[in-house]
Amino acid sequence: MTNPLDGNEENKSGHRIEGGIDAVVIGAGADGLAASAYLGKAGLRTVLVGAGPEIGGRIAAREIAPGVQGVDGEHLITILDPDVIAELDLYRHGVEFAARRLDTTYFFESGEVLRFDGDLTQAALLNLEDDSDREALEAFMGDVLETAAFLRPAFAGGGYAGPGGNHQRQLEKAVNQAPPEMAARVQRYLYATAEDVLRARFDDEQLRTLLLAEASFRSASPPHEPFSFMSLLRRYAGEAAGLQGAAAYPKGGTVSVIDALRRAAQAAKVDVRAATPVKSILIEGDRVAGVTLADGGQLRSSIVIAAIDAQQAFQDMIGPEMIDIGLQRILTARRPEISTARMQIILKGVAQDEATRR
Ligand SMILES: Cc1cc2nc3c(=O)[nH]c(=O)nc-3n(C[C@H](O)[C@H](O)[C@H](O)COP(=O)(O)OP(=O)(O)OC[C@H]3O[C@@H](n4cnc5c(N)ncnc54)[C@H](O)[C@@H]3O)c2cc1C
Repeated sequence: MTNPLDGNEENKSGHRIEGGIDAVVIGAGADGLAASAYLGKAGLRTVLVGAGPEIGGRIAAREIAPGVQGVDGEHLITILDPDVIAELDLYRHGVEFAARRLDTTYFFESGEVLRFDGDLTQAALLNLEDDSDREALEAFMGDVLETAAFLRPAFAGGGYAGPGGNHQRQLEKAVNQAPPEMAARVQRYLYATAEDVLRARFDDEQLRTLLLAEASFRSASPPHEPFSFMSLLRRYAGEAAGLQGAAAYPKGGTVSVIDALRRAAQAAKVDVRAATPVKSILIEGDRVAGVTLADGGQLRSSIVIAAIDAQQAFQDMIGPEMIDIGLQRILTARRPEISTARMQIILKGVAQDEATRR
């Protein structure tokens, strides 16, 4: 039945069926916003649907305590692809960095304090007494930067970086295609713990501790777990605020990046809808035909992009009977428990007096 008011149809149960859509993007977090902005820019009539009342997913501002606004997820930017900034015009849409390369300060029990700004090439300036450690550090930094640059295409596209994740397969493919010396190096680093790699290269315990802290910074892999060294390489393969390996803080917090992505999507004429949960992905024959919403309505479209957890998209929204065994195995691969707890405090400067430091 056609609704005379908007030309859309209703199904037998009286639910609205919307047509005239080229692409539906499920999930209104950072990824869904960026994907929909690209689709809109390409001239596709795109609808972005998010389940929650706010846009931004884990980076949506919420009242985390009475009168206090906060976000669940990202606080610092360690990877924001410069191509995405340029292609979606994010600076014009409001991204501005309050700090482009944040210092990280490490306090040691001995009372010493090390400041590190994320630039591995600057770490060479640390006051190292032992020349062999200085040489080892320089060689190590060279290896890390070169390997990270080589792996950059394999890390592209985001996603879960640990064992069973999509990066693992891309990295294994990269190993197969690499020149022998690089292949051996990546193979060595692929499942290595950050602790083992650093212990094999450095005698100086303080330097090792500093680099271990760097390796676990913003990483879901604790430094004693396999794949944790890869997390460091992943970070150095990316850029924040145009600087490799940096941690940057956007003016207004990470929510401001979400606001800019939302403006980019809206400038590309994307129809952004909050509080519109998707129940399932419609399959007709062997093709995607749109989505069914939790309220029973349908959005008809031959392109559906799921910017949500892959397991939820394939297993729950499409159903295991439609998925081949290989993909099912990847989706259900056991992921390691995350056992890291970290507190980040952003200071205006390093405390000068002994009492405050402690
Ligand atoms: C505690 C914590 C700290 C973090 N710190 C950092 C950091 O410092 N730096 C960093 O780079 N990253 C950090 N991250 C990771 C970062 O927050 C996430 O990678 C990023 O927010 C993920 O964005 P996303 O769009 O993929 O997913 P999400 O933000 O999870 O968005 C998914 C969206 O999909 C929607 N959705 C789900 N199901 C449906 C459905 N059925 N129908 C419609 N919509 C649906 C959700 O409502 C949500 O809006 C942190 C994460 C956490 C949890």
